[in-house]
Amino acid sequence: MTHALIIGGGIAGSVTAIALQRVGIDATVYEAHTTPAHEVGASMGISLNGLAALRTLDAHAAVRDAGFPVPRGDMWLGNGRHLGAQDTGTPLPDGTLPVVIRRSDLYAVLRQEAIRRGVPIHHGKRLAGVEHRGGRVAALFDDGTEAVGDLLIGADGIGSTVRSHVDPRAPRPRYVGLIGTGGITSEITPTSEPGTMHMVFGRRAFFASMVSPDGGVWWFVNLPRAHEPSGTDLTAITGPEWQQRLLRAFTGDRSPAVECIRATTPDYTWFPMHDMPPPRRWHRGRVVLVGDAAHVTSPSSGQGASMAFEDAVQLARCLRDRRYPGDAFRAYQQLRDGRVGKVLAGARQVNRSKSATGVGRVLRDVTFPLFMRRFNTPRAFAWLYDYRIDFDRPVDDAASVGRGTRRVLADVRRRTR
Ligand SMILES: Cc1cc2nc3c(=O)[nH]c(=O)nc-3n(C[C@H](O)[C@H](O)[C@H](O)COP(=O)(O)OP(=O)(O)OC[C@H]3O[C@@H](n4cnc5c(N)ncnc54)[C@H](O)[C@@H]3O)c2cc1C
Repeated sequence: MTHALIIGGGIAGSVTAIALQRVGIDATVYEAHTTPAHEVGASMGISLNGLAALRTLDAHAAVRDAGFPVPRGDMWLGNGRHLGAQDTGTPLPDGTLPVVIRRSDLYAVLRQEAIRRGVPIHHGKRLAGVEHRGGRVAALFDDGTEAVGDLLIGADGIGSTVRSHVDPRAPRPRYVGLIGTGGITSEITPTSEPGTMHMVFGRRAFFASMVSPDGGVWWFVNLPRAHEPSGTDLTAITGPEWQQRLLRAFTGDRSPAVECIRATTPDYTWFPMHDMPPPRRWHRGRVVLVGDAAHVTSPSSGQGASMAFEDAVQLARCLRDRRYPGDAFRAYQQLRDGRVGKVLAGARQVNRSKSATGVGRVLRDVTFPLFMRRFNTPRAFAWLYDYRIDFDRPVDDAASVGRGTRRVLADVRRRTR
């Protein structure tokens, strides 16, 4: 039986192990952290394309049930102008809708699902190097131990060590000019019903909120900041100081931001936002990349996890249907990189709108409603949210992305250099 070494026990690692098991490949996960409970508690959305990918593995119900449904997106300008509702796709045949979930819960549910299906997960195993040995591949860990398998899957996230092995000249994660944080409060009376994410492109910053079924308000913000702050820069400012800055950023906007921020304990976790187009090659020899190790679409896309799920499922199909790993990896990259590039390009547009200041912001407020009227048609996002992978269908090279999408990818790569 083929044995795969999966480096990274995050979101992509667990789902890839499940997907490989489905096609008869035995996988072991090696995670750098010494304990399972290392994920930070930001909230994230899982869209229908991602849930559909999990459904092909019978793994979507656990994720759906650990979050709550948010099937509508409503967009506003800070001056109170309604921009429109965002299409979130066709519900799955069993009625599943897009969900919002804590990142830590998503991580825990997927990990549990992998363990339940018999996937071994070893902690405290930080990959330090990769060696090809004849027809096999070895993972060398920083504790001096090693593991040998037939394939090695880099699911080691944005700072991937495996990516450096696959392509030392791969693009690096690029700061997108925004920092983010969020919170949850049950101290205010919600002014909207559960099920809608309200997104406000404000005068100085971006704010989003939604009401959970128990009446709590989940919110997050993106603040423009020209230069990437270090972790120390962010923690040098105390929680109450950040709270004052946030209140100043949202004063004057017509949104629930000020009320939410006042009502939430100011113990923020800040994260600078990044993106990264996929490298020109996602694979080398018996080694291949999935999830954030292969591409970072930035949190504004709401697609990082969903792209990881799609990667896992497509990689498994390709390995099932191609005799040699190199052929399987080529088919997998062909199926994936145009789509990922398109998601990344869309998120860059959103990021530009979020970080507009001065004249740029005025222009945005004039052109955004026109843009929305012209392009936000009910099916505008069908290519994204209604994307369904037919797991049982043999992989067909002709099914890879079209020339238009490939052009978008080339453009995204060019603009990252
Ligand atoms: C604040 C925030 C909000 C987001 N919001 C959304 C959203 O709404 N919707 C969405 O779909 N996505 C969102 N994303 C993106 C999403 O979280 C990522 O795309 C997703 O976590 C990628 O999963 P991954 O498994 O590839 O990487 P990770 O989840 O980062 O997992 C990588 C794992 O590899 C391990 N590792 C790293 N290096 C090594 C090594 N050398 N050896 C062994 N193990 C290693 C790490 O410890 C980690 O466990 C958001 C991201 C952030 C930061």
